[in-house]
Amino acid sequence: MKVAVIGGGPAGLLFARLIKRRAPAYAVDIFEQNPVDATYGFGVTLAGAARDRLRKADEALHDTLAECMVFNDEQDIVLNDRKVSLKYAAKGGAIARLTLLNLMEQLCAECGLVVQHGRRIESRDDLAAYDLVVGADGANSQVRTLLEPKFRVQNRVLHNRFAWYGVAKALKPNALVFRDTRFGRLVAHYYSYAPGMSTFVAECDGETWNERGFSRLSDDERKAAFEDVFADMLDGQPLVENKSVWRRFNFTTCGEWFHGNAVLIGDALRVAHFSIGSGTRLAMDDAVALNDALADCADDIAVGLARYVELRKPTRDLFTEATVKSFEWYEDIGKQMELDVVAFTRDFLTRTGRIDDERLRSYVPNFYDTYMAAFPAISSGG
Ligand SMILES: Cc1cc2nc3c(=O)[nH]c(=O)nc-3n(C[C@H](O)[C@H](O)[C@H](O)COP(=O)(O)OP(=O)(O)OC[C@H]3O[C@@H](n4cnc5c(N)ncnc54)[C@H](O)[C@@H]3O)c2cc1C
Repeated sequence: MKVAVIGGGPAGLLFARLIKRRAPAYAVDIFEQNPVDATYGFGVTLAGAARDRLRKADEALHDTLAECMVFNDEQDIVLNDRKVSLKYAAKGGAIARLTLLNLMEQLCAECGLVVQHGRRIESRDDLAAYDLVVGADGANSQVRTLLEPKFRVQNRVLHNRFAWYGVAKALKPNALVFRDTRFGRLVAHYYSYAPGMSTFVAECDGETWNERGFSRLSDDERKAAFEDVFADMLDGQPLVENKSVWRRFNFTTCGEWFHGNAVLIGDALRVAHFSIGSGTRLAMDDAVALNDALADCADDIAVGLARYVELRKPTRDLFTEATVKSFEWYEDIGKQMELDVVAFTRDFLTRTGRIDDERLRSYVPNFYDTYMAAFPAISSGG
């Protein structure tokens, strides 16, 4: 069998490795448009449950990644000058995106796979020779575009704007900071992912951008505004750029998951919003599900792709629902920021609808015991 994997991100690399290990005789080509060592963004997170699933699917990969991760169970939620310090029951792991990809590529090489860097797939002709085409080419998937309208793509462009920066320092603890400032409402979300590095996602709401003039600033001025407003959190460090453009999030989802022998996984299928911090794990879980589904059906492509949808869609649907609730919470941040910091934190923690007060108790015990107990109106749902 000849397999084309389009995209050398987490989804594509994991799928390629899994299928090649399972069926070494298959020819698996991986096409990646970027050169070696080039990627966007900084660090990404992988929660405990996601790492457990990865361990089950690929223990060597799990162990290799874990060695390079920074683990953390603390997060401050800051609303203007008030703070709630959270201690989660489980530790989240974070890793540089580039490290993650390089390690995955090395493990792919160990099973005989070579990523063809600098190869962008443009046309259907590029894919004609393959029995299976896996579109793992991210949020702006070309595989999806080439086969439109077969995937029944839906787009929803959000009003908030964001840019992904880094900081050359491990900021401790991780934090989410919401501030009403002279520029408007600014949000900083940062977490360390290596001994000397942190991811810093900067965000503002639509009103700040459109009506309060943030749109009229240059990118350099916006960066300077964040450095100024969050100077106390940044310890005077500047923000580091890596393709850090300010943009609106395009929430793209597909009604169909495959067409003929072409199938989508990861962000190409349904883009994950950064506010649920799960894009990498969803991409990897898709890869695992696709490989499992094909294995179940002795690699009969038509049956296997239908099985992939059957296996994976229920969980994906739940995450999509949670994602929508999460980004809608941020879209409406002006309203949330009128709350007291404790009510605000509880609202934030339960925004996806997946965590009720009972789950909150086991998820973030210190918040439940310390803060909610002090506010009976909140703990009784008032
Ligand atoms: C600001 C921000 C913060 C984030 N934070 C987190 C986080 O903390 N945790 C987390 O899990 N996720 C996070 N994510 C999301 C995460 O980065 C993605 O969800 C994840 O990388 C999706 O993996 P993927 O393999 O599907 O796609 P990608 O990682 O996007 O990989 C797709 C690859 O395909 C390549 N490609 C595209 N088109 C072609 C083509 N035509 N031919 C050849 N190659 C092509 C691209 O160059 C790319 O390397 C964040 C995203 C953003 C924007």
